[in-house]
Amino acid sequence: MIAKCEECDADITIPEDAIVGEIVQCKECSGEYEVASMNGGKVTLKPAEVAEEDWGE
Ligand SMILES: [Zn+2]
Repeated sequence: MIAKCEECDADITIPEDAIVGEIVQCKECSGEYEVASMNGGKVTLKPAEVAEEDWGE
């Protein structure tokens, strides 16, 4: 299955055994997306919610 990256419009390959909630990454811009729904082979992505980590220390 193929989905489009919202950021750069690249194709993102979704594994056939992907499940809703799975995190996929765009290989072009490294954007992370969560599989929001799958209907009839059409995949909808939403931006992955990145946990706020404090990388400063
Ligand atoms: Zn992208």
